[in-house]
Amino acid sequence: MINLEAPKKAGALINQAYQAAAEVFRPISRKYDSAEHTYPAELDMFAALLDGLNSSGEGGAGAAGVRRSNDKEDKKPSNRNGANLNVVLGTIEMCWGDVGLLLSMPRQGLGNAAIGSVATDEQIKRFGKTWAAMAITEPGCGSDSAAITTTAKLDGDHYVINGEKIFVTSGQRADSVVVWATLAKSMGKAAIKSFFVEKGTPGFEVVRVEHKLGIRASDTAVLRFENCRVPKENLLGTPDVDVNKSFAGVMQTFDNTRPLVAAMGVGVARAALEETKRILTEAGVTIDYDKPPNTQHAAAAAFIQLEADYESAYLLTLESAWMADNRKPNSLQASMAKAKAGRSVVDITLRCVELAGVVGYTEETLLEKWARDAKILDIFEGTQQIQQLIVARRILGKTSAELK
Ligand SMILES: Cc1cc2nc3c(=O)[nH]c(=O)nc-3n(C[C@H](O)[C@H](O)[C@H](O)COP(=O)(O)OP(=O)(O)OC[C@H]3O[C@@H](n4cnc5c(N)ncnc54)[C@H](O)[C@@H]3O)c2cc1C
Repeated sequence: MINLEAPKKAGALINQAYQAAAEVFRPISRKYDSAEHTYPAELDMFAALLDGLNSSGEGGAGAAGVRRSNDKEDKKPSNRNGANLNVVLGTIEMCWGDVGLLLSMPRQGLGNAAIGSVATDEQIKRFGKTWAAMAITEPGCGSDSAAITTTAKLDGDHYVINGEKIFVTSGQRADSVVVWATLAKSMGKAAIKSFFVEKGTPGFEVVRVEHKLGIRASDTAVLRFENCRVPKENLLGTPDVDVNKSFAGVMQTFDNTRPLVAAMGVGVARAALEETKRILTEAGVTIDYDKPPNTQHAAAAAFIQLEADYESAYLLTLESAWMADNRKPNSLQASMAKAKAGRSVVDITLRCVELAGVVGYTEETLLEKWARDAKILDIFEGTQQIQQLIVARRILGKTSAELK
């Protein structure tokens, strides 16, 4: 049975992540929002702490370490609260601190989660200590990731990668990148594979970084690959093109990264709710959970509604991670969590700006920043509309060709 409460065992990790978020992230949150593209050097110390958490076997507090273990243990029909749940719980706390800074953390890239999803055990060992960005989006394709045109052609012991990737989170700072490329366009989606490419590989160039609305502490880069040769062992997972499995190999990445992005949304939403509650309380508004909302101050009633949205996003996020830990297919739940958390964090943060009045709109508090940071969480790793499409396909039993 699913118990949708944070497991007691995760208490220490949650507490550590919370302390780090409160003492490291929050004090520098505004600084790196204003100083866009400046590397937050304070995070290096932090990465070392996270390495310690990861090696303790409890999973880290950031975006790495997500993997469905193949241990025989896992095949027992018992409940497990494992790495996925721990990482999600840690991510919530850290993003309560600052989501842009979490995305800037060494070794916590979305590419790390991708490696965790599709790499072989040998590759996990080889690439385990890297900081990996994830490059799917191209000038000609975003939501329709099956349409990617970046190619990887086998030439002796190497794949030769050619193409351009845009909007790559940590694309400039990470020391490696997981690149989606097709082995042969004519073979369709099944030929799309992910490749581990190290920074400094000849033919791999960072073209520029983007200026953005939110998550300004995080670098977002355009990458170019021109006859970039990577050892053939850097193709993550199997090189076989199985048309029956279609896109399933690389798409499995999203089953792990979407709960993480949902967790980011939950963390930011909680930050905004806590700050708003403080401001409302100071203004003399009482929020009474024992009374029907429509009998209370309008701001209190609005706040209770926002908290309900937050709560459902939180529970869906935990469920999707718990399912991954328990080796249950979670594509539907991962998309539901991402859709709910993505939409809720945008609604909640904007509504909190409104409820707090001028204090919310100025830089006096972080509310306006959180409202800017929130929007990307409803865009990357699949937009709101794409998540809804996936949920509809799963529930109605339709293929991507039948429901576009
Ligand atoms: C700050 C930032 C960081 C990012 N980080 C990364 C990263 O690390 N790696 C990476 O690969 N990408 C990254 N992205 C890219 C992001 O994943 C894409 O922007 C996103 O997938 C949407 O693609 P698109 O922008 O091409 O929009 P499009 O796919 O062109 O979509 C435009 C609009 O149409 C809607 N739409 C599209 N298809 C449908 C449909 N079938 N039904 C209904 N509506 C539809 C979309 O929901 C959207 O609202 C990042 C983007 C930003 C802004």
